[in-house]
Amino acid sequence: MTLWLSAAANRRILQLGTAFHPLETGGVMLGWHDGDDRIVARVIGPGPRAMHGRHAFIPDHVWQLEQIGQAFSASAGDLDYLGDWHTHPDTPAVMSNEDHMTLRRIGKRVPRAAMLIASLSEKRYESRAWTYNKPGLLARARSVETDVRIFEPPEEWGLEKIGGPSAIQGAQPDF
Ligand SMILES: [Zn+2]
Repeated sequence: MTLWLSAAANRRILQLGTAFHPLETGGVMLGWHDGDDRIVARVIGPGPRAMHGRHAFIPDHVWQLEQIGQAFSASAGDLDYLGDWHTHPDTPAVMSNEDHMTLRRIGKRVPRAAMLIASLSEKRYESRAWTYNKPGLLARARSVETDVRIFEPPEEWGLEKIGGPSAIQGAQPDF
């Protein structure tokens, strides 16, 4: 599978990650399924009451749920929750034990939930993603790395309605 990240979603991650650097930040990814692939149309930030540490981050859950609700109604229920994203300031984009535990927890509710980690330093920005896969009854479920590809969505997708490029230009206080 591939995690397709819209260019606007990627920019938003970079923008939020830079704003909070050297502290961690993160949020949730919304979009669509296409077979095994996931298409991230929109990312939601940490929220105003999130807690940011150097190696930890606790989102403002209440605010995020509101934002998800708004995005769902703006898209007429078309969007799905795909998983979480967070930054690793000045450290590599690899899953920590805590990240594995979080993804496993999400994966129990959301089939093949994804976790995107953006490694961010002054010189470098790299995103990698993992999904939680249940291969079969006997095999153990585990986190599997998945390809991340950034793409520019066609205009007729109308992403601006759900917080795509032009909504971001609107400089809404998103965190
Ligand atoms: Zn992490």
